[in-house]
Amino acid sequence: MTTRQVREIGILGGGVAGLSMAALLAARGHAVRVYERDRAGGKLRRIALGDADVDTGPSLFTFPGVWQAYLHRLGEPDLLNLQPLPGGLGVHHTPFGALPLPVPPDHPSYSAWQRYVRRAAPLAPQVTALLTTPPRLRDPAFRRLGRVLFGVTGRHLTAAGWLRAQGLPPDLHHALGTHALNAGLVPQDAPALYALIPALVGNQVFRPAAGMGALLDGLLSLGQTRGVQLKEGTAVVGVSGQTLTLEGGEVRRHDLLISAMDPARLARLRGHSVQSRVNRRTVSGVALYATLPAPAPWATTNVLPPGDFRHFRSAVRQGNLPTETLALVHADGGRVAILLTAPATAEALSLDRPWVQAQVARVERTLGTPGLLASALDVAVLPPSHYALGGHPGGALYGAVLPVWRSGPLHPQPYRLSPGLWQVGTGVHPGGGLPAVLGGVLIVDQLLREAGI
Ligand SMILES: Cc1cc2nc3c(=O)[nH]c(=O)nc-3n(C[C@H](O)[C@H](O)[C@H](O)COP(=O)(O)OP(=O)(O)OC[C@H]3O[C@@H](n4cnc5c(N)ncnc54)[C@H](O)[C@@H]3O)c2cc1C
Repeated sequence: MTTRQVREIGILGGGVAGLSMAALLAARGHAVRVYERDRAGGKLRRIALGDADVDTGPSLFTFPGVWQAYLHRLGEPDLLNLQPLPGGLGVHHTPFGALPLPVPPDHPSYSAWQRYVRRAAPLAPQVTALLTTPPRLRDPAFRRLGRVLFGVTGRHLTAAGWLRAQGLPPDLHHALGTHALNAGLVPQDAPALYALIPALVGNQVFRPAAGMGALLDGLLSLGQTRGVQLKEGTAVVGVSGQTLTLEGGEVRRHDLLISAMDPARLARLRGHSVQSRVNRRTVSGVALYATLPAPAPWATTNVLPPGDFRHFRSAVRQGNLPTETLALVHADGGRVAILLTAPATAEALSLDRPWVQAQVARVERTLGTPGLLASALDVAVLPPSHYALGGHPGGALYGAVLPVWRSGPLHPQPYRLSPGLWQVGTGVHPGGGLPAVLGGVLIVDQLLREAGI
């Protein structure tokens, strides 16, 4: 039996990626320290709203197989008690009519939906593997996954191209195109796989019974029981080799560093100059959280896509506010979250800005409750300037826009920058959401184990 050398490992950033990576490495006996400039959680954080706590950031837990794979590697039982969210991916208010996804049998677009689901079916059992297998051409498992994926997407490179070839009714076509935007890309810029996401998710949309904050609590406790040291309020201000300089001047050397912060931030800390033009960034957002005096009379999830993806794309690429943006609306009794997609310009867009008011009015009008937000007891707003504080320039939620062939799971990402410096997190693993972040962590964990770490 070989014995692994215990290493001192520093993790930069205590979001979902940093915390989940820390627990895996500590489970192998390494001494792990997580440096977090603010509070742990990153984009998933609790804020006080009136006299209650509200979980901000991710609200839909999809592809739970990736989470199960993560727990399996740790040898832990499930801690989240994931509950299916009624209404799945929600009602999509397209310019061609309202369409729930999954489409119910009594809807005129049901047979087209079934056809679409059948086309994606070969991929459905492979999603967890696709998100957790290191992309290496010499690996037969990876080659098999690639064949299945290309068998479904055919010669189409982009989500827009694949959707055009399907001959779908306009409401379904529009609703499916909207899902590319969940990774901050319009269908013209997103890989074809993204058009398949609603079919692959189906009605498997979950939330932990105790709310999304349970994921943060769970990751913290998985790390704590394995001896992870979490240094909150400790910003890294310089990285040289495996040596970190912390705010205040302290210098710490580690055997290995793993960055779980945005790649552009890391590059700056290493003294590299980084160009990040607005048209090369994924989108940012304005997240509004409100408590209402009575339950909102809305379905659990409503999605208001931009009416015209082309106008939307050209506006956000120029850093302009699109006339109609993508709005995701989550309602849970008297608590509502409205997430407005905005260009990544680090603007401090507040509730009194006419654009924000116009988007909120569109949501209220569409959902038949004009003026509802004015009755809110408390409202909190997290604008692009908030996401820019600890993330990609401008507050781009999923980092830089990659060329389309590099933004799917088949292209190797810059996981290893040098033998002593690796990267995980939303800006490294394409797809951006929790399954991609956890999947990227599992991939890097496997690569590290293969490197004897
Ligand atoms: C409004 C919103 C809604 C979302 N909805 C969903 C959803 O429904 N489903 C889903 O799956 N995903 C969703 N996501 C995406 C999901 O939240 C993210 O993919 C995930 O939280 C990213 O985790 P991360 O650890 O990669 O990055 P982050 O959470 O950004 O963590 C990076 C951490 O690094 C820290 N850091 C930065 N610089 C330094 C430094 N110099 N020194 C020390 N620490 C530093 C930051 O403070 C931060 O804590 C949503 C995101 C947002 C913002």
